[in-house]
Amino acid sequence: MLRELLAGRVGTYDVCDASPYLKNAARFHGEPTEDRCPICRSENLIHVHYIYGDELKQSAGQARTRAELSVLAMTLREFQVFVVEVCLGCDWNHLVEQFLLGRDGLAGGTEDGAEQDAMGGTAASGAGSAIRRRREAQR
Ligand SMILES: [Zn+2]
Repeated sequence: MLRELLAGRVGTYDVCDASPYLKNAARFHGEPTEDRCPICRSENLIHVHYIYGDELKQSAGQARTRAELSVLAMTLREFQVFVVEVCLGCDWNHLVEQFLLGRDGLAGGTEDGAEQDAMGGTAASGAGSAIRRRREAQR
């Protein structure tokens, strides 16, 4: 019984175990969301984007903002992004999404006349559109 109790406790603790690194990443690189934490309901969740891939070398495993992802997506061929949602109130954290980014990561668009857009610089828009624009420009 004691063992079960401990197991239950450990289980609860496991759910809310955001490391200091993850919480720092959330503070400095995270993207605030409109979603309330499902556990404590006192803070909004923050999305942290972690990057992995051979091309990243020593940057692999670090957190990046969305704007930084857009830049990387235009310079690297392919890298993996893991999106973790974090609550700074109760330390809840959870992997919500993973996807590939990079110049090779998406099937290109087909529209002509995108070269001007690519020159115009739209780094502020989403990483996806940045990739698409880049691929169009290469045609
Ligand atoms: Zn919470």
